[in-house]
Amino acid sequence: MSQNRVVEGRMVNAVRLAELIEGERPMEATEIEDAERTCPDCGGDVLQVGYMPSVSEFVTGYKCQNCEWHETDRE
Ligand SMILES: [Zn+2]
Repeated sequence: MSQNRVVEGRMVNAVRLAELIEGERPMEATEIEDAERTCPDCGGDVLQVGYMPSVSEFVTGYKCQNCEWHETDRE
């Protein structure tokens, strides 16, 4: 169901993208979408993905396609 996208030169699916953002594999992840923003570090395109790091938490994570920059909507 999820579409693979290129991030830092590698094809990733939604779960893998969330894992890159979170540092751990999430329980679930939604589809990868284009975030309407650019990376503050390199100006590259930013992807977003919703995921569940635990049963009680839903996080939207953002990840640059070109560099290591990432953040989440926590707090
Ligand atoms: Zn970047």
